Amino acid sequence: AYVIASACIDVKDGDCQTACPVECIYEGGRMMYIHPDECISCGLCLSVCPVQAIFDEADLPPHEAGFLAINAEFFGPA
Ligand code: SF4
Repeated sequence: AYVIASACIDVKDGDCQTACPVECIYEGGRMMYIHPDECISCGLCLSVCPVQAIFDEADLPPHEAGFLAINAEFFGPA
């Protein structure tokens, strides 16, 4: 799945939601979150993000690693 990381905080541009074909990007209080079970890893959201906040979970930089759990936990316990 893809993951939204720190650059989205207080930005919430929203173009990713328009780009996502399965509508799995949800707006939270300070950032957007990708539902890990709904994301089909198509990558379409990646290039439209104006702040490069979105990563394939396999490509998350080490300092952004915590956002894997942060995205998942937004949707509640697994
Ligand atoms: Fe949506 Fe595709 Fe981005 Fe996953 S990778 S959040 S399915 S646009």
